[in-house]
Amino acid sequence: MSLQDQVAKRRTFAIISHPDAGKTTITEKLLLYGNLIQSAGTVKGKKSGKHATSDWMEMEKERGISVTTSVMQFPYKGATVNLLDTPGHADFSEDTYRTLTAVDSALMVIDAAKGVEERTVKLMEVCRLRDTPILTFINKLDRDVRDGIEVLDEIEDVLNIECAPITWPIGMGKTFKGVYNLLRDTTVLYKTGQGHTVQDVREIKGLNNPELDEAVGADYAQELRDTLELVQGASHEFDLERFLAGKLTPVFFGTALGNFGVDHMLDGLVEWAPAPQPRDATSRIVAANEPKMTGFVFKIQANMDPKHRDRVAFMRICSGKYQKGIKLKQVRTGKDVRIADALTFLAGERDNVEEAFSGDIIGLHNHGTIQIGDTFTEGEELNFTGIPHFAPELFQRVVLNDPLKSKQLHKGLTQLAEEGATQVFFPLRNNDVILGAVGTLQFDVVAARLKGEYGVDCRYEPVSVATARWVEAKDDREMAAFERKAHDNLARDGAGHLTYLAPTRVNLQLAQERHPDIQFRETREI
Ligand code: GDP
Repeated sequence: MSLQDQVAKRRTFAIISHPDAGKTTITEKLLLYGNLIQSAGTVKGKKSGKHATSDWMEMEKERGISVTTSVMQFPYKGATVNLLDTPGHADFSEDTYRTLTAVDSALMVIDAAKGVEERTVKLMEVCRLRDTPILTFINKLDRDVRDGIEVLDEIEDVLNIECAPITWPIGMGKTFKGVYNLLRDTTVLYKTGQGHTVQDVREIKGLNNPELDEAVGADYAQELRDTLELVQGASHEFDLERFLAGKLTPVFFGTALGNFGVDHMLDGLVEWAPAPQPRDATSRIVAANEPKMTGFVFKIQANMDPKHRDRVAFMRICSGKYQKGIKLKQVRTGKDVRIADALTFLAGERDNVEEAFSGDIIGLHNHGTIQIGDTFTEGEELNFTGIPHFAPELFQRVVLNDPLKSKQLHKGLTQLAEEGATQVFFPLRNNDVILGAVGTLQFDVVAARLKGEYGVDCRYEPVSVATARWVEAKDDREMAAFERKAHDNLARDGAGHLTYLAPTRVNLQLAQERHPDIQFRETREI
């Protein structure tokens, strides 16, 4: 198969959702459709606690969550689908955000009883940075949930994206009967008790088909017809262009637990979601079907497999093809490396791959030489852009239990920050060391790794920082003046960039008003 064809059939996406909306359950069903598992319920998820042995894995097990984030590849209806897992519960971290820079589309899962929740809002903001196309699955229709039109209104208002319902539910909770597909003009009937297998479904063609009245009951059929009139008036029609521009989202209803409606969504993903997209680099735009391989690292994970105490760098291939033994240039260092043992993540199993194509993710073994954001090419001098650091929202002061280990602490933290495990800030006004994170577990991971890998024993203390912004100015004089005035709130991050640490949101707002020439940025390009 040509490179062109390989690229065209790839769909690389991630799921964005608030914890408990059903991401893990949907992932299981997707793998069921991908024929990767015989029976759903076997994905290593936050509850299975299958793997243990290393301290870190022990920590995962205790908390019943998985630090290990996987990439899963599966075939579906002629496409090759890559699903990048986004850590969601306490293991929520910057990796979750950065993974979204490595996908071409995203699936938003909404709990139909809860509507748009806070985490989803944040993740959507990240998707907006690249106008990533979004599909929406409204989940848990087997429960008593909110009215569909109300949920769509909320999505449109809060997330500022147009909704185009592709399916519409008939009933809910105990009386959930199925969904009507607006594009196919077909009703699919729901049967309970088929959550663990690919369902045998009954379809009824046509909205006015008397069979529909018979199957779901005349009242429900009539209610569906009436509601659809309202829905068609109140919502948008599906428009591929607007979807691809990230302005409109096709919406599917169903129940992940009952394995119903997930296949409609997957069909939509394969049919409409974009194949690997061109990507911006410093010198030019790189097309996905260029023959030479390029890629960038969006995540580094340590100790994934207790048997190998190495780190794995996750690389998104942006063009060309990986072949075992390929020679690549790590652009930041200028060094050439031969890659003979890249990993792929077939349903979470680590496997050596022979080849992989643009849109795929491969894992590179790495002993601390690779950093987040590193670009690899077959020799060309270019760097992919748009792989940012995100302003942390949680802060702790690091206190050494052994004050003589200060040098190791700085070294360890600088390296862990480069790897993306945390962010570190050194205030200008004192010798504090402040860690920043977007998820609480990041702090524990850092403490465990400092101890295990750098022999540094530390603890945390609260610190009065509410939020951080990277600061920039057009010219150096302005910057120097600001540095004098705001000295007590400024810090350098691990890479040496000036950062404003605001004790309160109000303080940040005042600082922004007082210094209109200074840019306060929520992201920093790597
Ligand atoms: P995650 O935190 O987003 O990964 O959510 P999970 O997939 O772990 O689901 C959270 C809880 O909701 C679990 O107890 C699931 O069994 C349950 N759940 C997921 N989907 C459905 C659904 O369609 N209907 C019902 N009733 N429960 C669901």
